[in-house]
Amino acid sequence: MVFTLFTLLLAQVQDVRFDDYFTNGTMRVDMYITGNYLEEIITLDEVIAEGEWAGSKNNLIDYTGYGCEQLRIYHSKSSRMIYSRGFCTLFGEWQTTEEAKLIKKTFHNTVRFPYPKDEVEVVIANGQKRLFSFRIDPLKHRVRNQNLGKYESVKLHYSGECSKKLDLVILPEGYTKNEEKKMIEDAMRYSNIFLSSEPYKNHKDKINIWFVKIFSNESGVSEPRKGFYKDTALNLTFNTFDIERYLTAPDNKKVRDAASAVCYDTVLIMVNTNRYGGAGIFNQWAIFPSDNEYDEYIFLHEFGHSFAGLADEYYTSKVAYSDFYPKGLEPWEPNITAYLKKGEIKWGNFIKKGIPVPTPEKEEYKSEVGLFEGAGYAAKDLYRPMMDCKMFSKGSVPFCPVCRNSIEKMILFYSE
Ligand SMILES: [Zn+2]
Repeated sequence: MVFTLFTLLLAQVQDVRFDDYFTNGTMRVDMYITGNYLEEIITLDEVIAEGEWAGSKNNLIDYTGYGCEQLRIYHSKSSRMIYSRGFCTLFGEWQTTEEAKLIKKTFHNTVRFPYPKDEVEVVIANGQKRLFSFRIDPLKHRVRNQNLGKYESVKLHYSGECSKKLDLVILPEGYTKNEEKKMIEDAMRYSNIFLSSEPYKNHKDKINIWFVKIFSNESGVSEPRKGFYKDTALNLTFNTFDIERYLTAPDNKKVRDAASAVCYDTVLIMVNTNRYGGAGIFNQWAIFPSDNEYDEYIFLHEFGHSFAGLADEYYTSKVAYSDFYPKGLEPWEPNITAYLKKGEIKWGNFIKKGIPVPTPEKEEYKSEVGLFEGAGYAAKDLYRPMMDCKMFSKGSVPFCPVCRNSIEKMILFYSE
């Protein structure tokens, strides 16, 4: 059965020829997600035509299995799935907070896919469950044209055509017109940090880094707990879900409008602050501060979440999530496991013969891949691949081999 499914999936992957179904443009669908800890209702906001498609033209079907939910695009005439991509949302994270048991809330979200030639059905699914679907014929329906020339953009690192490269866009937040020099210097600094860190360093020739010049009316970023509300271009804020250091971008439309100035696969938001904080949500964005003593770490760690779907491997930090990973279910993230079946470990091929599993936290296993208990905010019943990793502790620790491998897979996914 598994074999048959795999063969089918492979057939689908190979069958979809980009030029048969898509133009070179990008279609963006904006939506609202409303609900509470149990319920999720998705409604359409608007459909937008953006510029050149930045994603791969070969890897159209997502074979990674990563993500909380999945976007699926079906060609109406043939009913064939022609594009899919996993993602997570800020709403999904909020659902696991105590507040979601008390009230209903609305969040904004975006999905993007190559611009279809004919009518397609846009589906958001959670496993087999369809949460949202609608049909759009780009020749008959109204599609808003995004103003692509609204912002000036800068090429920080260019290695070639968007669809053949992984395209990062760095958006600045909380920089005033007077801080333009600092803004450009900060962006260049992060571009260099990125390109000199493994495994990205090794794949420099598969990466483009773009920057969009966006100015805010006020310098810095909002901190509601302190009563600071700043007038900034992208409306980012600290204290999301009332967590001290959780710096997110709830005003998704502003972020996506700004990002559309370039062809991009993945968004990074650089915030002009020296406060500690950040966030990373798979296939949404990674957010980091410009001037904190841990800024390099936050930048790479959060990008690990947003780009490669890596989970937090730590478990000591106090977070506002209750049961972020429900008991008895295997997390989809590649670097943590509930180890529900003895002998079956998703990173099993990284574990050398003779390493005991579960692996005790002893000096002799410090540089070995094993199965270490404590991960994903839980001290028990969740396991991580290595004693230390950039997804485990603050500072200059490199990614463990399992995390590194997932990142490399994603770089190839976008650049093949
Ligand atoms: Zn790791």
